[in-house]
Amino acid sequence: MKVVQSWDDGVVDDARLTELLRQYQARATFNLNPGLHQRQRAFSWRYGDKEVWRLGRDELTAVYAGFEIANHSLTHPHLPDLSAIDLEREIRDSRSLLQDWFGQPVRGFCYPFGTCNPTVKAVVRAAGHDHARTVTEAESVWPVADPLELGVNCRFSDPTFWPRYQQVKASGGVFLFWGHSYELVDETQWAALEAKIARISADPDAEWASLADLFAAGTTVQC
Ligand SMILES: [Zn+2]
Repeated sequence: MKVVQSWDDGVVDDARLTELLRQYQARATFNLNPGLHQRQRAFSWRYGDKEVWRLGRDELTAVYAGFEIANHSLTHPHLPDLSAIDLEREIRDSRSLLQDWFGQPVRGFCYPFGTCNPTVKAVVRAAGHDHARTVTEAESVWPVADPLELGVNCRFSDPTFWPRYQQVKASGGVFLFWGHSYELVDETQWAALEAKIARISADPDAEWASLADLFAAGTTVQC
């Protein structure tokens, strides 16, 4: 079984998360909004009692070194609401910026709020992405019927994480979980995540993979 994790929004907690993942040789994809990073860390919003800050532009390449970067749009809007010109800016310009910043091809997209429509999908594809992640949960996400509407198995914090993992493992497929590191609000939750990562890394039947690798391997439905 391949295991893929996909984390959104480029927040400061990703710095701790990437350190944790490196300890366990765990791969991951990080979905970023290049239009929302200032040079230094900046306050963005509140998540309950917690302040959520975005990483500074100057630290991004160091924080995400060794991980896959995907495009989460320039400024995280509801894409189906946008004009054609704004869609181009939010999708195509964002991809160009990320490729310049990280020096790696950006093949993946992740819809802000999980929302898309046929027009959005067409722009995502035309801008050079070959797959795009939603937040739609499914028992089986691979192989995908539509690479531009890739589903997920569950969130990292889902109480049914392990039953879902075992179900996918039984079929030898791909298990994809996702989330935002700002959801980790105390040490108990960080410890629970570390235990999950450690258990997956120690599982002889599991192998960490990146989304771009899966799609590059050509095991998806062609269209
Ligand atoms: Zn997001």
